Amino acid sequence: MIEPAEQQQDVVYRLRDGLVIVEQDEAGKPYFVVQDTGTGKVYGFNQASIKILRALDGKTTVSELIARMSGTPDAVERVRANVTSFLAKVQRAGLLDGGPPAASEPVRPGQRWMAALTKYNPFYLKLGVKNPSPVFRPLSKVFFPIFSYPGLMVLALLFAGSIFLITRDLKRFWYSFLIFQFFRWWVAAYALLFFSAVLHETGHAMACMRFGGDVRAMGFILYLLQPGCYTDVTDSWLFPSRVHRIVVSLAGVYIESFLFTFAIGVWYWTPHYSAPNQIAFIFAIILITRILINLIPFLRLDGYFILSDLVRVRNLRPRAFAYVISLIPWVGRSWRATRLSRREKTILLLYGLVAVAFIVIALSATVGKVYGILTHWSPHGALLFWTLTIGMVVPAALSVRKMLLTYRSDGEGSQHPAAREAVS
Ligand SMILES: [Zn+2]
Repeated sequence: MIEPAEQQQDVVYRLRDGLVIVEQDEAGKPYFVVQDTGTGKVYGFNQASIKILRALDGKTTVSELIARMSGTPDAVERVRANVTSFLAKVQRAGLLDGGPPAASEPVRPGQRWMAALTKYNPFYLKLGVKNPSPVFRPLSKVFFPIFSYPGLMVLALLFAGSIFLITRDLKRFWYSFLIFQFFRWWVAAYALLFFSAVLHETGHAMACMRFGGDVRAMGFILYLLQPGCYTDVTDSWLFPSRVHRIVVSLAGVYIESFLFTFAIGVWYWTPHYSAPNQIAFIFAIILITRILINLIPFLRLDGYFILSDLVRVRNLRPRAFAYVISLIPWVGRSWRATRLSRREKTILLLYGLVAVAFIVIALSATVGKVYGILTHWSPHGALLFWTLTIGMVVPAALSVRKMLLTYRSDGEGSQHPAAREAVS
């Protein structure tokens, strides 16, 4: 009788049509990004893995491939195990044609529940529309020229001008902070804020399209219980230059910086402490706060993707968390990733520890507030609070665990560069 594993060896596979393969230079080593143009999903492969994929021509059988790769007879078993598990992974990702259909195991009700629980992370909930690119295309005439050296020069001049205006009227600038106590135009300020959040996301989308990418999705997000917006700029993984990826990540705060200089101008030239004057000041302060928060690399905001590109560690965040877990005695044993350089280990450890601290800080403020409100308004407040907490933490932990296991190891073949969502 033929074992299923043996059967697997005589099948032929072919790399599916409709895949885009881009070669990138990863600190001297070639790295390949493969995009399924149908789903927009992106996968990363090292040179050895792409060689296997390219050998799948629809004629060569898997056993022939293994024989060719093994060299010596005693290497066959090891190569067979690696190639078989690699192909199974790639097939599950939907990148291959041919071969037996991927085995689907019977689903027990318990597993279905588990899958439903794992699907949503209550601390990262998204609600959005798919493929908004056509809506943005007409805006390209206005936005594309902004993402250029002259555009950057204009912003630098405007920013220097704003600083100059502030220093010319420094006393009034500090006094203006008192406005926060008796400011009555919050509705106007929030409307402006919403407008700038939309422009921020438009900035990400336009920058992504400027360098040839498409925007896959866009919408609202509840990240660590805070409302925000997001733009899926996963396509920027395909850019040959990481500088372009960094520009896409910076595009949101870049646009908001223009708005900041505009707000400072209005604050300087309108009648002092008049309604437009107050609104402009509050808007400017909120904008600069938003810009700074967005650049913090230790939350999953724009600054994170910028740091990840700067230090050249893809999927820095999930891999850092997985690495920190792997250091925990006993629990961490199954989390160990292979082939990490000393540099990577240091970066992953430092980033992981600081990022965990940031999550705790970001959550504790909101969680404390919720606890206060619940215990104040209900005699069962504490019970309600703990029920809510467990109800959110369990699915969050399960979905994070699944995500971390996906991105844990790098350079082993089918590591997926995570979706890039510009969240703000
Ligand atoms: Zn952003």
